[in-house]
Amino acid sequence: MIYIGNHLSTSDGFLKMGEKALELGADTFAFFTRNPRGGSAKEIKPDDAKALIRLMEENNFGKLVAHAPYTMNLCSATEDTRKFGLEMLCDDLKRMEYLPGNYYNFHPGSHTGQGVETGIEQIIEALDKALESDLSTTVLLETMAGKGSEVGSRFEEIKAILDGVKHTEKMGVCLDTCHVYDAGYDIVGDLEGVVAEFDRVIGLERLKAVHINDSMNPMGSHKDRHQKIGQGSIGYEAFKRIITHPAFAGKPFILETPNEDDGYKAEIAWVRANM
Ligand code: FE
Ligand code: FE
Ligand code: ZN
Repeated sequence: MIYIGNHLSTSDGFLKMGEKALELGADTFAFFTRNPRGGSAKEIKPDDAKALIRLMEENNFGKLVAHAPYTMNLCSATEDTRKFGLEMLCDDLKRMEYLPGNYYNFHPGSHTGQGVETGIEQIIEALDKALESDLSTTVLLETMAGKGSEVGSRFEEIKAILDGVKHTEKMGVCLDTCHVYDAGYDIVGDLEGVVAEFDRVIGLERLKAVHINDSMNPMGSHKDRHQKIGQGSIGYEAFKRIITHPAFAGKPFILETPNEDDGYKAEIAWVRANM
């Protein structure tokens, strides 16, 4: 058993997202905490948040997987960008407390020429400023495709960040199937091997959520172009093995595939029929 849903628009508020999720057959979903390409955030209405919490309880939803904006780069070579990223991170974590106990996922960042080690240090530094012991949210590092200077395409890099952070108990990992395949982990030919590698390097107890996306490109391409489930290089058979694998049981699975509502509805139904 897994939870399944897709990325939804926040434009009509929290409760509307819950209603949309139900309409699509979902029992979890993702949303951007703020404008993904800018960074501005809407005011949160506490009653709207409470209404969503009620809907989720009544319908046995799994945890939500909120997504940080793409503009957040905690390890940019540009100091202003790092500062802006930290401000967004701190503000987002405060906002997440309106929906206590869910997940907040972010891209570790792009080191933009500084090197992976410096990137990792700066990400840890930012997390140490943002994470507090009374936080109810678990902050997830997303596994990346390794496009450009992205940090987090190797499990070792994710592990180094997790280990470096003071409040490491507040941290987990979101595995993106398109990204790990693009990064060179063979989830099609050797899912067991990749799961074992994740467990050996990071520890499976750190795995909290999955982004379920097919890839337009072959394994190891470092391209990060998502494809509809079954239509890309990962394919239906591999996804059947992934959604039924015991390592992923009980986790929220989020579709970030190039679809409109009908497409998501069909993919959610496919997952339910095969899980
Ligand atoms: Fe992402
Ligand atoms: Fe993703
Ligand atoms: Zn991606």
